[in-house]
Amino acid sequence: MEYRRLGNFGLKLGVLSFGSWVTFKNQVDLKLAAQCLKLAYDAGVNFFDNAETYANGHSERIMGQALKNLGFDRDSYCVSSKAFFGCRDHPRPTQRGLSRKHVTEACHQALARLQVDYLDLYFCHRPDTETPVEETVHAMHDLIQQGKVLYWGTSEWPAEAIVAAHQIARERNLIPPSMEQPQYNLFTRARVEQEYARLYLDYGMGTTIWSPLASGVLSGKYANGIPQDSRLNLPGYEWLRDRLHTDEGRRRLGAVENLAVIARELGMSVSQLAIAWCLKNPNVSTVILGASRLEQLREDLGALAQASKLQPDVVARIEAAASA
Ligand code: NDP
Repeated sequence: MEYRRLGNFGLKLGVLSFGSWVTFKNQVDLKLAAQCLKLAYDAGVNFFDNAETYANGHSERIMGQALKNLGFDRDSYCVSSKAFFGCRDHPRPTQRGLSRKHVTEACHQALARLQVDYLDLYFCHRPDTETPVEETVHAMHDLIQQGKVLYWGTSEWPAEAIVAAHQIARERNLIPPSMEQPQYNLFTRARVEQEYARLYLDYGMGTTIWSPLASGVLSGKYANGIPQDSRLNLPGYEWLRDRLHTDEGRRRLGAVENLAVIARELGMSVSQLAIAWCLKNPNVSTVILGASRLEQLREDLGALAQASKLQPDVVARIEAAASA
């Protein structure tokens, strides 16, 4: 494993990490979760990503139980949660958002579900336009002061909202956000590469990026239709499947075919090519992998060994193929 600092902060994360969105509970039970966590940990992964909303809290329960059963030293890995969406289908007003009340209670609940004493990383899962940023910054600062959280961050916040959080933290001597969790892959680049550019320079923020395979599309598995056992066929994820049937979805499928040609030439899978491409961006602190099967995770972890093949001329070809 290669380790990178979380932006300018002292925390060193493996460049590949592992998350549980969609998969844990829906596709991955406790036994398989433990096998995946062990495979990842043995490969040097030291960050496991979660959120209150994943399977309405069940994903955290499974991860917490699996980590407990595996018995890894608590100081050898990091675990996260995220607050905003709540952990039930119809949350009441106090059960979601970024109010002091919800981020505090969501933290306590995540600690209980994950069976840990502190969250290494704690994210504000989306911006909350109905809570003043200063209320959230202050609540996050307090959770850190209480030892319940080590690093706090944002996920998919507009750059200006993150700048506002830093300014408030600076003015009031509060702890600022250390990291942002944005989507980043060959099809979704603008936010990480352009909108956030000043966040790395001015505030030393790190990024823990999600959906490196665009929910599996960049694995090439959808070339001949949608496999029955894939994410796009799960109840509740019709919105993901519908995206594939748009003009942009069809364009992407065509692009993946061209990426597969390059991957074959390079002697790697198209998933590995797509993940290795994310690793080329030095502002990416860690790429969060997702997998519903052990073999997928094994293949995806192999991307790191392939990354050196992505020399500048190859990267240029890959980017041209992805945007054609
Ligand atoms: P990906 O885009 O990599 O999609 C992962 C899915 O792609 C797998 O579950 C599997 O789906 C398929 N897949 C993975 N590897 C392969 C392979 N080698 N061959 C074929 N298919 C493969 O990542 P995710 O969307 O899962 O995101 C990763 C993590 O990021 C999440 O677990 C979560 O922790 C975090 N995240 C954060 C968000 C946020 O808002 N902050 C939002 C979304 C994710 P299938 O079951 O179809 O085979």
